[in-house]
Amino acid sequence: MSELRVEANLIDGRWCGAEDGGTLEVTDPASGAVIGTVPNSGTEETRRAIAAAHRAFPAYAAKSVTERAELMRALHREIVAHADALAALLTAEQGKPLAEAKAEVLSSAAYVLWFAEEVRRARGEVIPAAVPGRKLLTTRHPVGVVAAITPWNFPSSMLARKLGPALAAGCTVVVKPASATPYSGLVWGLLAERAGFPPGVVNIVTGSARKIAQAIMESPEVRKLTFTGSTEIGKELIRGAADTVKTVSMELGGNAPFIVFDDADLDAAVEGAMIAKFRNAGQTCICSNRVYVQAGIYDAFVARLAERAAAMKVAPGQEPGAEQGPMVDAQALAKIEELVADAVSAGGRVLTGGARHARGGLFYAPTVIADATPEMRVTREEIFGPVAPVYRFETEEEALRLANDTEYGLAAYAYTRDLARTFRLQDGLEYGLIGINEVLIVSPEVPFGGLKQSGLGKEGGWQGLDDYLETKYTCIGGLA
Ligand code: NAP
Repeated sequence: MSELRVEANLIDGRWCGAEDGGTLEVTDPASGAVIGTVPNSGTEETRRAIAAAHRAFPAYAAKSVTERAELMRALHREIVAHADALAALLTAEQGKPLAEAKAEVLSSAAYVLWFAEEVRRARGEVIPAAVPGRKLLTTRHPVGVVAAITPWNFPSSMLARKLGPALAAGCTVVVKPASATPYSGLVWGLLAERAGFPPGVVNIVTGSARKIAQAIMESPEVRKLTFTGSTEIGKELIRGAADTVKTVSMELGGNAPFIVFDDADLDAAVEGAMIAKFRNAGQTCICSNRVYVQAGIYDAFVARLAERAAAMKVAPGQEPGAEQGPMVDAQALAKIEELVADAVSAGGRVLTGGARHARGGLFYAPTVIADATPEMRVTREEIFGPVAPVYRFETEEEALRLANDTEYGLAAYAYTRDLARTFRLQDGLEYGLIGINEVLIVSPEVPFGGLKQSGLGKEGGWQGLDDYLETKYTCIGGLA
């Protein structure tokens, strides 16, 4: 782990601390132990990083598409070669079980490879001209310097979805990783160096979110801001980007419904609910937040779900067989306690869990709450923890109405064996990602992104690259 744990910013190819020497501590959420420090940087360091990215841009953008694709493939090889060590680093600062951390790291590698391949298809067009003697062309160009701000819950793969398309398209980048999980961000600098990316192409700065964001916002040289995090901060950043008219991509919060119809395969639905709810201890933007179950199957479903949740192994992510790690910090734990207390006071029936786990620290017991109602806070707010409120519904129309009754629109899941209903759900669910009889729906080939207040833009698929390319139109006249 230590070989990949970098405790410095990467600016213009040099590893450096904050100008005033300040640092932030990084802790292991499973034990509370301090595992290291990173620079507590601010405006000045960010300005230098932006200047470096700006200087590096013309030469990097001018590289041929095959040269950039080869650099990306080298980066992919670095990630795969160090997958175990990267997973250990991720678990140490974030807390998720090692198997989940390794899956995240390999997913990061897969995104890098996908964009290395996809960039070779970033074509322009020749448009039939209405006027004789003219040729009308469109060509694709990198947007320029990109700033990327990422969250703690998937500190590796959320960055892969931004660095992958940016570097493939020919952009240079300034990255600000989450303060809780900076090592999984900083290590991208090390791996990019080893892969052969020139100095200044990848710059990474850790520290004060507000100061770093302010320098990004003020800079006319930063042409795009890509952010994954809460809707609240995302809205601030959208407003901030207006002054310099930056392009923004926003991957924001979610409030995913998980709908189980009477005709569902019960085993598959329970299995799906376990993954969709408890992966990363419920700290996933596409985690099911509200579980809606049709009356005829309700009692059987909640009983099975509670039985499975109660049997989960809650333990530090490094412990063999761990299925659920700790919450990321004390604030997250306190919010979950508040939400559960609110649900119970409004008539929710705790079938399992409902309290901190016996392991103490930041561990919370996997929780299933039956008889959930729309008045509870868990219906409106992102839970971001291992708590499954289960609501009863009667008709498909009612389920759709309840599912869409939120300002969010990231992911939605449904279990049914009725084909016609499947297509009605596809049409009716106001969500950017829909899983029918499947919850593991994310991969590099598909466009990931939310509707409504869950975001702007897509990550993955050809659309994920498109967001990092500008289109220029050229009219060549006088050809008749
Ligand atoms: P967050 O508090 O919004 O933080 C995300 C990032 O923004 C961190 O790097 C944070 O830095 C930074 N930040 C905080 N305040 C800022 C400010 N005023 N200006 C600029 N940057 C600022 O979110 P989080 O708690 O890390 O992540 C959880 C949220 O992310 C959830 O809402 C989840 O749904 C969402 N999420 C969405 C997706 C998606 O793809 N749609 C994926 C994953 C997570 P510090 O760490 O230094 O505070």
